[in-house]
Amino acid sequence: MDLFEELYRQYGYDVRFLPEFCVGGCGATVINYYIVGPEGELYKCWNDLGVKKQIVGYLNSDEIVNFELLARYMAGPTMMDSHECIECKLLPTCEGGCIWERHKNLFEGRKYDYLCNTRKDNIDRALELHYEKMIKQQKHHEQDYEKDISYSII
Ligand code: SF4
Repeated sequence: MDLFEELYRQYGYDVRFLPEFCVGGCGATVINYYIVGPEGELYKCWNDLGVKKQIVGYLNSDEIVNFELLARYMAGPTMMDSHECIECKLLPTCEGGCIWERHKNLFEGRKYDYLCNTRKDNIDRALELHYEKMIKQQKHHEQDYEKDISYSII
């Protein structure tokens, strides 16, 4: 949250502090989404590009060469299978984070911890910043409105 606050305050980025409902998901979970490698090999995620065991097929073939991986990406564990996510107040706002990282953690014992919405552990601060931003925007609108009125009087 500190980084986002800095981006907002120091560099004027229009940071959205308020968690928002978000649906869309990751291409890796979509049936017609593939990354094509230089030799026509197909992957489900660009993080897998160049890793032979992550190839799911080839452009010039109908054969699925790694059915387990393909099925895992498209129908495997998501946030909806996670007790932590189901209990989380921010559930519909993060899309469950990166599916590649989720699967690496689940199936390869990795410890990626970027899955969660950055506001999850800082929700009070995020709401304060959102409120502060709204007040600032409101003041700008009022100033613009007053300017418009003074122009029309002239
Ligand atoms: S913020 Fe973290 S725990 Fe909450 S739904 Fe998203 S991934 Fe799951």
